[in-house]
Amino acid sequence: MNAIAKPAGSVPLNAFTVDLEDWYQGLETGPEEWDGFEDRLATGTNRLLDLLDQCGVRATFFVLGYAAERAPRLVRRIHARGHEIGTHGYSHGFVYQLGPDAFARDLARSLDILRNLVDADIVGHRAPFFSITHQSPWAYRILVEHGIRYDSSVFPVRNYRYGMPDAPRTVYRTPEGLIEFPLTTLRLLGTNWPIAGGAYFRLLPYTVTRLGFIKAIRHGDPAVFYLHPWELDPGHPRLDLPRRIRWPHYYNLTRTRERLFRLLRDFTFVPMREALESSGWLGQTTENSHDRPCQ
Ligand SMILES: [Zn+2]
Repeated sequence: MNAIAKPAGSVPLNAFTVDLEDWYQGLETGPEEWDGFEDRLATGTNRLLDLLDQCGVRATFFVLGYAAERAPRLVRRIHARGHEIGTHGYSHGFVYQLGPDAFARDLARSLDILRNLVDADIVGHRAPFFSITHQSPWAYRILVEHGIRYDSSVFPVRNYRYGMPDAPRTVYRTPEGLIEFPLTTLRLLGTNWPIAGGAYFRLLPYTVTRLGFIKAIRHGDPAVFYLHPWELDPGHPRLDLPRRIRWPHYYNLTRTRERLFRLLRDFTFVPMREALESSGWLGQTTENSHDRPCQ
């Protein structure tokens, strides 16, 4: 990949993104187990949709195909409320474990479901577990072949499950022509620190996320935030899991709503496609309407 100069005259807008999946789908459980778990997808999603409405924010929802099959009306409702729909694959497998052929099948299956559900182009992708890494460089070619125009799967950090610490920290174009919008990091003491959402948003003080966003924006770069619906549903079931999975999943869930409200009050967000259009990375096709403050 190559970092290239930002398009001239860019006005960066931040992207608010949601990985739409149920509470058990990011716990390294397999689809063969999922039917045995309590369905809570609508609980957290409805809370999130109401909060976004309250703050006048539209977002990008990267929807898991498996979840969309079971909750088609919920996905249609998200889209009808003005949010962008992107894909999060079908089965929530690690891209680098699937390999090229299985990844292509998984992606195509999710896109078939989503394109039949909503009357809109699906042009954005986020890999489960941010699992486009140096182990899966073939993923970009496959995404382009399936009509994906931008990706947001690269986390420029070190994590035991993901990460490309040497990747650019701001939007760039891959040699395959795909736009990559990496997750926002805070550069401190020579290291990229993850601050852009999910567990990091609950583990770290809010001021750390705020600082990372302010530094990105001052540098002229759009920031990206991500969340899962279950992070607004502290009452979801508790599984007995290895500590490395259990702790970040359940920690501070009761704080998410209050912190999210502060974030939405402090920064302006749009769907990722609009953030990329406004900064010239993607051709503009939609009207931007934002800037309504949190009430
Ligand atoms: Zn996910």
